[in-house]
Amino acid sequence: MNAFFKMTMLAFVLGTSVGQAQNSAKFKVVLDAGHGGNDFGATYHGYVEKNNALNVVLKVGRILEADQATQVIYTRKTDVFIPLDERADIANKSKADIFVSIHCNANKNLAASGTETYVMGVTRNAANLEVARKENEVVTMEKDYKIKYDGYDPNSPESVIGMTVIQEEYLDQSIELAAGIQEGFEEGLSRKSRGVKQAGFLVLRKIYMPRVLIEMGFVSNKEEGAFLSSDEGQEQIAQAIAKAILDYRKEYFVQGTEEYVPVERPNIPEKEIQKIDTPKVKEVKPAAINGTVFKIQISASTKKMDLVPSNFNGLNTISMEDDGTIIKYFYGNTNDYNESKKLLEEAKAKGYGSAFIVAYKNGQKVTLNEALR
Ligand SMILES: [Zn+2]
Repeated sequence: MNAFFKMTMLAFVLGTSVGQAQNSAKFKVVLDAGHGGNDFGATYHGYVEKNNALNVVLKVGRILEADQATQVIYTRKTDVFIPLDERADIANKSKADIFVSIHCNANKNLAASGTETYVMGVTRNAANLEVARKENEVVTMEKDYKIKYDGYDPNSPESVIGMTVIQEEYLDQSIELAAGIQEGFEEGLSRKSRGVKQAGFLVLRKIYMPRVLIEMGFVSNKEEGAFLSSDEGQEQIAQAIAKAILDYRKEYFVQGTEEYVPVERPNIPEKEIQKIDTPKVKEVKPAAINGTVFKIQISASTKKMDLVPSNFNGLNTISMEDDGTIIKYFYGNTNDYNESKKLLEEAKAKGYGSAFIVAYKNGQKVTLNEALR
C-alpha cells in the first residue's frame, strides 16, 4: 500500500467517523417543574404543589440522564419563579424534541382524585377549562401579562378558547406521549386515570414541539396529597413518567437522523382519548381528474414532508407537487368552487393564513378565472 493511498484511506475513515459524530444528536427532553418561588401553586393540608413538581422533575431527570441517547434540559432546578413565556423560550431555544410540564391538581371537592395528562387545544369542557384557568392564573403576577399573553383574561374562559386556536401541530405526538404517561400511572402504578385531556395552557401555547402537561394527582385530596408529597410516591411517579418518555423516544426518535421516523401509530385505546375534542376536519370527497379541480395551496418549501396530518396542523387530504426546486403542499381536492372556499376557511383556521385556491383543468394548472369560465 503506498503512502498516498494510506493517507486517502485515513482521510476516508476520519471523514466517516466525524460525519457520524455530527449526526448522533441526542433526544432532547425539556422538564418543566410547575410554579416555583413566590408562586406556590396549589397548597392544601400542608402539601405544596411547587415542591412536589420540582422533586418529581429532578427524579425524572436523574433517570433520563442515565440514558445515553437522551439529553435533559430543565426550566428550573431550584425553588425560583420563572414566567410561563420564559419556560416556552427555554424549550424553543434548546430545539428540544418534547416538553413535559409537571403539576399537581386541586379541587374544592376534596374527594376528587386521580391523574390526568393534558395536550394543548381547544375545549369547552368546564372541568378542563377550570384546570387550565388555575394553571394560567400565575401570569397575573407579571405586570404586562395582558400584552405578553395576547390579551389573556384570567376571568374569562373564552379568552383561553380564543387564544388556543393557534396550532394543532404536533397534536398526534403529544397525544401519543400523554397516553403513554397515563398508561404508566394506571397500569404501572395502579392509580386512577382520569385520561388524556385537552385545554388551553399558556405555558404550552407557544412551544413548537410535542408537549404535555401532567397533573400527577390532587393535593386537595388528603390521601393522594400525602402520596404526592412522599419521597416514595414521588419516586414511583417519576419512574412511570421516565419510562413513558423513554418508550416514546424509542418509538419516534432514531439517533443520528434528528428526525422522527414516520411509523404506523398504534391505536390509542378509545377510553384514553374520549375527552379529546379535536376540531373535526370534514372528509373531502376525491375530485375527478377530468374537468375542473380546486385545491388549497397551504405552503411551499424545499423540505419534503410526509403527507400526514401531524405535519400539517392536523389537516388531512394533503397532496404535493415537486417541480425539482420547490415543493408545494395542497389541502383538499374538489370539483366544486364553493366547496373549495370552505376548504380555504378550514386551512386558514388551522393557521395557514396565506393559503389560497388553485385550479386545474384536465390536469393542467389554470387561473381561477379560467377555471370558473
Ligand atoms: Zn400547577
